Amino acid sequence: LFAQETDFLKGVVAMDGMPPADRLEVCFAGRSNVGKSSLINALTGRKSLARTSNTPGRTQEINFFTLHDSHYLVDVPGYGFANAPLPVVKKWQALLKAYLSGRASLRRVFLLIDSRHGPKAVDEEIMALLGKSAVTFQVVLTKSDKPKKGELDKIITKTKEVVSKYPAAYPEFILTSSEKGDGIATLRNTIRTLV
Ligand code: GDP
Repeated sequence: LFAQETDFLKGVVAMDGMPPADRLEVCFAGRSNVGKSSLINALTGRKSLARTSNTPGRTQEINFFTLHDSHYLVDVPGYGFANAPLPVVKKWQALLKAYLSGRASLRRVFLLIDSRHGPKAVDEEIMALLGKSAVTFQVVLTKSDKPKKGELDKIITKTKEVVSKYPAAYPEFILTSSEKGDGIATLRNTIRTLV
């Protein structure tokens, strides 16, 4: 399903630009700078499929990638960034909300959370929203190479506590490092079983 079989299809700025919901898809969501682009690049084995950027919120579109022509992998804009004008933020939030609550072919949302920080209020907003639309989310902890072991364990415990409040949560987390390659195979296999 991956590597050569993944291609960029289109960036969408409004719901009416979405490709038809005619095949199953999985989605990646998370706060700006969580490591989403790096993870998608690691997952697909393509260095610059998703733009990696140090400018929070630079990616302003919902990006659709084809997986083996038969599925979509969807990269939604990073949320929770500062610095952007309020109307821009509002427009993003509306698009994100519309997508996450109204996409029949959406199989699972991989909710990326920085393993140094754990979930933030904006992540919980997404968890709650997904509960309303009955879309399962699975936590993917990113940058697992960064925290010390003891810190990481604390973050995992805290994240489990938070996530357990949300019925849309898939109970298992995936711990990843795009830098070291940890967890990438697990994530690929998870996607394979879903689509
Ligand atoms: P995005 O805004 O969520 O797409 O995040 P990026 O993929 O652009 O990553 C944000 C920053 O975190 C960049 O400086 C990356 O090099 C860094 N980063 C991403 N993944 C990892 C990782 O697994 N380990 C480490 N140490 N740094 C990472």
